[in-house]
Amino acid sequence: MNAEIIAVGSELLLGQIVNTNARFLSRQLADLGINVFYHTVVGDNPVRLKEAIKVSQERAEFILFTGGLGPTKDDLTKDTIAAQLGKQLVLDEEAMRSIELYFEKTNRVMTENNRKQALVIEGSVILKNDNGMAPGMFLSTEEHKYMLLPGPPSEMEPMFIKYGQEAIAGMFGKQAKIESRVLRFFGIGEAALEAKIEDLIDQQTNPTIAPLASDSEVTLRLTARDDSTNSAQSMIDGVEAEIMARVGEFFYGYDETSLVAELSKLLKEKGMTIAAAESLTGGMFQQELTSLPGASSLFKGGFVCYSNEAKIELVNVNHETIDKYGAVSSECAEELAVNAASLVDADIGISFTGVAGPDELEGKPSGTVYIGIYLKGHPVHSEKLNLGGTRAAIRRRAVKYGCHLIINRLSGTRKR
Ligand code: ATP
Repeated sequence: MNAEIIAVGSELLLGQIVNTNARFLSRQLADLGINVFYHTVVGDNPVRLKEAIKVSQERAEFILFTGGLGPTKDDLTKDTIAAQLGKQLVLDEEAMRSIELYFEKTNRVMTENNRKQALVIEGSVILKNDNGMAPGMFLSTEEHKYMLLPGPPSEMEPMFIKYGQEAIAGMFGKQAKIESRVLRFFGIGEAALEAKIEDLIDQQTNPTIAPLASDSEVTLRLTARDDSTNSAQSMIDGVEAEIMARVGEFFYGYDETSLVAELSKLLKEKGMTIAAAESLTGGMFQQELTSLPGASSLFKGGFVCYSNEAKIELVNVNHETIDKYGAVSSECAEELAVNAASLVDADIGISFTGVAGPDELEGKPSGTVYIGIYLKGHPVHSEKLNLGGTRAAIRRRAVKYGCHLIINRLSGTRKR
């Protein structure tokens, strides 16, 4: 099956917003084994939208629309598609009720144009909007399938995942269930990871394997389609086992997690506390850790010691260490880690010192980073990294590496 995504909205053509809906849907459809051959963007103009629909009907079997389902005059997607298909718009009682409820709950008076949002194309399956008012629609004709989704990503994405996928599964057979699992890897590049599982990627049909790289991480989204949730899950288990046998040492978590979230989980499991001394990361590690709920049980406190004076005065680094080796050194990183832990009586101390760039420091190039790790009762150690990228990327990556180092130190590689 091949698909086309038509994003409706003049803001997209004016460059005011980015077409993230097309990106999201393309990724989702690829996971489902549906080929997306075209992305189209068209403004809020019925004549041009009609033209775009006609063109896509010639070249796509499945046409997905986003935007233009709202109550305002320029929201014309529904009317134009209905007219193009020779169908009527009818009032959906359930959608109307939930719109009325929304206004009752928020104590606002409903204006007449809001009724428009409860109008749906006759014969369509309604996709509920749990995060807004305008419902989505899925419609089959002899030659085409159509899906209409709202514009705001906060409404469109959950709608597609919760109701849209099910409607699509129905196209492959009434009972089909679609299951997805994301595997997250750190410490291996996308090309290296793909090279190790190239044969699996080449053979993929069901489950599909979709790699994606961003910010030093690589994810693999595994998606299977089968008669039941259980059998789809066990198909994913099979592929996952093969992947893990080859690159399991770099795996760190499933689905919507992050390195800092995994670190936090691990510290909670072990009942351990942590402290930090940060130079080049300026508190980013502590900020990320404390942004997670329950941080108070594991984060004791820390230091932002950007200048050499602060390293000496706040974190008791020996000034001879800095004179002799520099602030960007394994010696300084190790003292920072040990002292951070002992100053606030934590089980673990971590430190970050380095050159975020763009200029070099102490004769060391941008991207030179030392991370100190101290576990109470064990010798302190440090890792030297040579990170690439912009100043912002170097700082973000340093934090991720820090989390990764502690996770490995505490648990070795973890597998399901
Ligand atoms: P509303 O009920 O808010 O009017 P709608 O379904 O009519 O929803 P639009 O009016 O077309 O959708 O867009 C509403 C908002 O959704 C836009 O201002 C924009 O912020 C976001 N949006 C629309 N289309 C896209 C897109 N293709 N990618 C990302 N964001 C989008």
